[in-house]
Amino acid sequence: MSTEIDPVELARDLIRCPSVTPADAGALDVLQRSLERLGFTCHRLRFSAPDTPDIDNLYARIGGDGERNFCFAGHTDVVPVGDRAGWSVDPFAAELRDGQLIGRGAADMKGAIAAFVAGAARFLARCSGTLPGAISLLITGDEEGPSINGTKPMLEWLRTRGERLDACIVGEPTNPTHLGEMIKIGRRGSLTGRLVVRGVQGHTAYPQLADNPIHRLLKMLTRITEQPLDEGTAHFQPSTLQISTIDVGNPATNVIPAEARACFNIRFNDRHSGRSLERWLRDAFDSVGGTYELTVQVSGESFLTPPGPLSDLVARAVEQVLRVTPELSTTGGTSDARFIKNYCPVVEFGLAGATMHKVDERVPVADVRMLADIYAAALAGYFADEARP
Ligand SMILES: [Zn+2]
Repeated sequence: MSTEIDPVELARDLIRCPSVTPADAGALDVLQRSLERLGFTCHRLRFSAPDTPDIDNLYARIGGDGERNFCFAGHTDVVPVGDRAGWSVDPFAAELRDGQLIGRGAADMKGAIAAFVAGAARFLARCSGTLPGAISLLITGDEEGPSINGTKPMLEWLRTRGERLDACIVGEPTNPTHLGEMIKIGRRGSLTGRLVVRGVQGHTAYPQLADNPIHRLLKMLTRITEQPLDEGTAHFQPSTLQISTIDVGNPATNVIPAEARACFNIRFNDRHSGRSLERWLRDAFDSVGGTYELTVQVSGESFLTPPGPLSDLVARAVEQVLRVTPELSTTGGTSDARFIKNYCPVVEFGLAGATMHKVDERVPVADVRMLADIYAAALAGYFADEARP
């Protein structure tokens, strides 16, 4: 059943499907066809939720039931092209130029998905029909969007079927500039706060008859920015808080407005949780006093797979192929690994992300091939090693 897969050609076929969230544009069909050729059983999982578009997803598996299951996870959706005039090529033509594969999703993360398939194909060929476990792919079409109808309900679907994942690599572009630099073993959490401070409108010449909400808003924002949140922890950099906007929209210079608003975003490490931060924010704002409204949205808690068997396995695979030792890091934004971490140990390793979400997104063709080698080496290590994660 096994057959060679060229990861670059598969990545190009995927890029040619303009799967800007929530569109699939045939990307999962392309993927499913190549996985079925290898003998994978494919399940298309369509999820819907109120106020969000329906999303198609794919779970593919090969191997016996109840065997240890090594999973590759990722997304086929991509972000919009942005400034089309800024691209030197058609973003969905998957052009090869000077050894680079250029197109939307090349780095984030169709190149890595193609490398999953090619790496698995190579390992399956080596096993010649006696796969000592199971390999699976958990691929969503909803990562760059609301992330509601994707990885999370897929994992719930797996759980209801009694399907276990034992270890997982997410193929996000984790390397800052060069393949092999960085494995992510966790991510910081993210909290967005929206603060509305209400006062009493009035004449600036008669402030005693008004209550200026801007002055209180400024004090509140000072309270939460004057001290660092922490100094960092063993595996995380210090948490950060950034004010992203302050809005009053007052066109008059002689009017004290009735209301002032601000938004801020906190990227937090494992010293905090969304709940502990909300309590801290309310205490700080209460200490200033007056009427305010705070709404808090936590898009992900911080998480960590501590350095151990899985990060060692992936680091060894990188060293074997590239002769470099990757750094273990928790930097950057959040990812779907935040859902997977509740099911099994998870690390992230993919291509170089320097051009992700930018115009002329691109990756070296050689990197896509080497990433397939690394994934194949990780599978070989996983299924060979008794002390496997
Ligand atoms: Zn991504």
